[in-house]
Amino acid sequence: MDAAYDAILFDNDGVLTTPTDREVLIDAMHDAFAAVGVVDPPSEHVRTVMGPSVDSLREVADAHDVDPHELWTAREHAAVAAQLEEIEGGRKRLYDDVGAVANLDGVATAIVSNNQHETIGNIVSHFDLDWLDTWYGREPTVKGIDRKKPTPYYLELALEELDVEDALFVGDSWVDVEAADAAGVDAAFLRRDHVEGVGLPREPTTEIESLEEIPRLL
Ligand SMILES: [Mg+2]
Repeated sequence: MDAAYDAILFDNDGVLTTPTDREVLIDAMHDAFAAVGVVDPPSEHVRTVMGPSVDSLREVADAHDVDPHELWTAREHAAVAAQLEEIEGGRKRLYDDVGAVANLDGVATAIVSNNQHETIGNIVSHFDLDWLDTWYGREPTVKGIDRKKPTPYYLELALEELDVEDALFVGDSWVDVEAADAAGVDAAFLRRDHVEGVGLPREPTTEIESLEEIPRLL
């Protein structure tokens, strides 16, 4: 493990903020189908649209004779709106230990999330995360699907923008560990309660239980 990190990058959901309630997202998927004129979509299609590949999105869109881009735009719009309600209603909240990584001396900081870029913007603004140097969520187009972690696309963009080399990426999912490896940076797996006992296909550089452990890694 490199002790001289010049940047710490964070996943958002499950790391900085609590994950969005699954039921809320399922309701948002129904809103998205309704917005493109599909009433009562099969639950299998609702589940697919929660986290599709480009191919499975096309299949679902074809089954309902709607344009996949239109369905995806509606899906992202509904997810942004539903999550903003959760943030403003205090149900999607900042973890108590985030204070330990706000205003770290001498290191650049960023968010790299699979959530929508607009949702990350809402989070940065609502919780006043103005100590971050930059933040990336996925773009609201079908292209954004392929650019999600474990693909290192946005992580590499962030590293390039920050102009850093020795970075640590902090995440709570195997996709974070894979993306860090693909981008050639260290990974810290944050094992919060919601990922207790979850296994990883690849060993992270380090495993931590709280963001309070980050300053000692610097
Ligand atoms: Mg996460």
